[in-house]
Amino acid sequence: MKAIRVSQFGGPEVLKWEEIPDLIPAATQVLVAIKAVGVNPVENYVRTGTYALKPNLPYTPGADGAGIVQAVGVSVTRFKTGDSVYVIGSQTGTYAEQALALENQVFPLPKNITFAQGAALGVPYSTAHRALFTRAQAQKGESVLIHGASGGVGTAAIQLAKRAGLTVIGTGGTDQGQQLIKDLGADFVLDHHDPNFSQKLLEVTENKGVNIIIEMLANINLGNDLTYLSKYGRVVVVGSRGSVEINPRDLMGREAAILGMVNATTNASELEKIHFDLIEGLKDGSLKPIVGQELPLKEAAQSHEAVMKPGAHGKIILVP
Ligand code: NAP
Repeated sequence: MKAIRVSQFGGPEVLKWEEIPDLIPAATQVLVAIKAVGVNPVENYVRTGTYALKPNLPYTPGADGAGIVQAVGVSVTRFKTGDSVYVIGSQTGTYAEQALALENQVFPLPKNITFAQGAALGVPYSTAHRALFTRAQAQKGESVLIHGASGGVGTAAIQLAKRAGLTVIGTGGTDQGQQLIKDLGADFVLDHHDPNFSQKLLEVTENKGVNIIIEMLANINLGNDLTYLSKYGRVVVVGSRGSVEINPRDLMGREAAILGMVNATTNASELEKIHFDLIEGLKDGSLKPIVGQELPLKEAAQSHEAVMKPGAHGKIILVP
């Protein structure tokens, strides 16, 4: 089979399209013929070799994908050959024509969801769900600022927050991104580059501020975020690409909290609960993953450049 392989850490050019041996499932594994792969920013960080997670070389990148079960190990009971599935994590990497996953990393793909949409479900929807409901403990009737709402995690967060009855303020950096946020049902749409952002946010919240902020770029925004919170407000730091200065007094008066989160620490039973809930939303149409761009898998290098550029518009998907 063909796979994208990384034999040395570096820029996007180290992602090579290579022939490697077909995979065979062990007793507890599911072999999936991958039809679509979700590209996440973290795969960029890992590829550089400077991230906390440093795989042994050579490796096949990728955690998210969707496809058809090609074979199952003898202990696998929940899946059979021919099932349409999506995977959230794999043992061998999803940037490939085949991937091996443990049974608890595989979920049934609802009939109304395409493989490309299925490949958008792993990291982005798990992260958005966990940020909103496990970390921020979001409640119906609260308001949420999704600071960076046009990309993979942000579009998922809009859908999940609306489904749960929150008022959503979403931000995008381009007209196309802002239109998408509006189309997804956000109550208010703002531009995170707008010099009058703080004032506009206060206007749309009638000077009350927001209960929750889901923050995609904390190194730029966290200091100001604290001033946007209402009493007992919570900021969940989902993304950050550097350090930032904050004024702790902005937290004190509001008795507010900054909450970190990292998707990788979600345990299997929590992940299962999250995905059973997501599958309900996919089936009833309240959740619809947004595919912004599809590229051939062999162009993975281009996808890594694209995912780090401004102008997000849903997910970038690779097709083997
Ligand atoms: P993505 O699809 O590339 O989207 C990036 C988002 O950030 C876009 O909405 C983008 O908007 C927005 N953004 C750009 N500049 C911004 C600014 N100044 N203020 C606020 N938002 C800004 O990436 P993603 O998959 O949604 O992931 C978002 C971030 O979360 C990444 O840093 C990723 O590494 C991180 N992440 C963390 C976890 C975790 O476990 N903690 C899990 C998943 C992702 P425009 O392009 O429209 O400007």
